[in-house]
Amino acid sequence: MSFSYDAKKEMIGSVNKPCCAFAQSYGFLLFGRSFGYGGVSLMTDKKEIADAYADAVRLAAGLEPSVSCSDAGRYTVCLPDANDRRTLLRAFGYEGNELSVRLNHANLRDDCCRAAFIRGAFLACGSVTDPQKEYHLELSVSSMRLTGDFIKLFDAYDGSDPELGFSLIPNRSQRSGMNVIYFNDSTSVEDFLSLVGAQNASMTVMNTKMLKEHRNNVNRRLNFETANIGRSSFASEPQIKAIEKIRRKGGMDALPPDLRRLAEIRADEPALSLRELGEMMDPPLSRTAVNYRLKKIIRFAESL
Ligand SMILES: [Zn+2]
Repeated sequence: MSFSYDAKKEMIGSVNKPCCAFAQSYGFLLFGRSFGYGGVSLMTDKKEIADAYADAVRLAAGLEPSVSCSDAGRYTVCLPDANDRRTLLRAFGYEGNELSVRLNHANLRDDCCRAAFIRGAFLACGSVTDPQKEYHLELSVSSMRLTGDFIKLFDAYDGSDPELGFSLIPNRSQRSGMNVIYFNDSTSVEDFLSLVGAQNASMTVMNTKMLKEHRNNVNRRLNFETANIGRSSFASEPQIKAIEKIRRKGGMDALPPDLRRLAEIRADEPALSLRELGEMMDPPLSRTAVNYRLKKIIRFAESL
């Protein structure tokens, strides 16, 4: 099962007020494969989506659509009878002879119906990518004017209403002759799913984001530490060479005890930072004090 399909099933199951149920049906039908006198239809390879579309036809106009399934498992739901199509269009306030159908706001009776309408549209032509892969939710619409009408609905979510607690600003592009309305940041994908009643899908996006961020933080810290070890080893190279020289020349005993101890620790632990070296001394030494003593060791080696 895909993430998108699970999200749609969740939307289908969400309960509507009667006014919103009508608006959801309108969105579902308007953004289906075709919606006009020439044809009212949807094609899908998911039975639940086909059934929900058929329900939308029944709810809107009390008509019984034809549902068929191809050998390849593709469902077609449509109204084969022209009179039925005209009846359905009239239920949504159209004459039935429009050349290009625009959004009829009279079908969104109340503010609450807007989200239901958007849910219907998403069921018809939307998809959302598994958040493990990327954050992307889109609706693909053939009519350019309808795309514009749909995007205008999001003016209500432009962030100017602080009561709302979220904002949704859709992006728009074109792909293979289709108009694509999309959101590609995790917060918008979360908010869209939550707006249209897919709370579980929205939570999944949020949890995935938190897990990813946690993983990134751990990786960033590991990288930082690895880089530091690399830097320390490089920085300790002249010290190690000096200590090796002192040992070779039998000069260790000539070093004062605290310097000898420091030289021994440094030779064993080339990756330690100055601060860490200082902590291993007894009594502990500051970073500056360690640095000062290491320089003394190097000078001592040079004098041999
Ligand atoms: Zn409503």
